[in-house]
Amino acid sequence: MASDPIQALLGSFREEIGRGVSTRGEFERLKGRFLGREKGLVPELFARLKTLPPGERGAFGARANAAKTEIEEAVRRLGAELERREAASRDRAAAVDVTLPGRRPRRGGLHPITVVRRRIEDIFLRMGYSIADGPELENDFHNFEALNFPPEHPARDAQDTLLVDRPAASPLLLRTHTSPVQIREMRKHGAPLRLIVPGRVYRKDEVDATHSPVFHQVEGLVVDHGISMADLKGTIAAFLEALFGKGTKTRFIPTFFPFVEPGVDVSMTCIFCRGDGCPKCKGSGWIEIMGAGMVHPRVLQGVAIDPEEYTGFAFGLGIDRVALLKYGFPDLRLLFEGDERFLAQFAGEA
Ligand SMILES: [Zn+2]
Repeated sequence: MASDPIQALLGSFREEIGRGVSTRGEFERLKGRFLGREKGLVPELFARLKTLPPGERGAFGARANAAKTEIEEAVRRLGAELERREAASRDRAAAVDVTLPGRRPRRGGLHPITVVRRRIEDIFLRMGYSIADGPELENDFHNFEALNFPPEHPARDAQDTLLVDRPAASPLLLRTHTSPVQIREMRKHGAPLRLIVPGRVYRKDEVDATHSPVFHQVEGLVVDHGISMADLKGTIAAFLEALFGKGTKTRFIPTFFPFVEPGVDVSMTCIFCRGDGCPKCKGSGWIEIMGAGMVHPRVLQGVAIDPEEYTGFAFGLGIDRVALLKYGFPDLRLLFEGDERFLAQFAGEA
C-alpha cells in the first residue's frame, strides 16, 4: 500500500544510502535522521505503535522491528567501512612530511533547497505519508487534462508552458507543477492514498528576484473514506507549525484551481512581525504560503476512484519560497547561482 509508513521509511533510507555516504558528517547526519534518540524516524515509528488499535500492534511491531534491524545493520556496516577508510588515510598521512604547511580541505554542504525539502519530507513521513516521484517531461493528459483544466485554460498556452518540440500529435511539455504525479499514483494504486511529491517544475518565466523558469514544489494528496475540509485544515495547521514554529496560525481564503472544489489560498502568520503588521505583509499580519483544496470529483472519476465512496484533499507549496522565508534572504536568484560564499552559510544545516 502506498501509504504504508514502514515502507516509506525504508524507501527513504535506501534512497539515502544509494546516494552514497562518504564523509563522517554525512554518516552522522544519516544516523541521526533515522536512529537519533530524540527525533529519529525509527524511534518515531515505534512511538506510533501506541496509537494503533491493539489488534494491529503485533504485525506492525514485527515489521517495524525488521525495518529497524535492516537500518541498524546498514548503519553499522557503513560506520565500519568509514572507520577503515579513515584508518587508511591516517596511515597515508603518517608517511608524508608533516612539516609542510597544512591545506585546509574545502567542505561541501547541503544546498538550502535540499535542507528545506528534507525538513518538509521528515514532517510528512512522521505523519505517515509516503514520498512519490514522477517524470519531469510530461504529456498534456497528465499535466492538464486529467487535472480538469479546460481546453482553453491559459496555463495550457505556450506563453506559460515550456513545450518540447515533437512532430507527433501530442506534444511533450516540461511539467508546470508536481500534480501529474498525483494522477499517476492514483491510477497506479487507487485509493486510499497518502503521499507527498517533491520535485522540480518549469514555467515560461523571466528570471528576477521572485521568478525563475525552474523551481521546486512539494505537493500533498490524501484520498480515503470520509476525508473532509477539517482534515485538510488540521493537516496544514500542523505542518506549518512544524515548519515555521509554534504559534504559527493559518487562514483559508476561497479561490479557484481547476483540480479542487472548493479551493483555498492558505495564509499564515507573518514570520517577520508574528502578526503585528509590517511592510513585508503589507500591514495585514498574514502572508500567503500555499494553495489547497478538496480533490475535484471529476479528477477522482478520471482515475477510476468513485467520488461517492472516497474524498480527498490536495495541497502544494514552493520549496524555494519556503527557503526564502525561512532564511530571510531577498532574492530567489541566490538559490540558483551556486555562489559558494552564499551556500557556505548552510554547510552546517542537516
Ligand atoms: Zn508582517
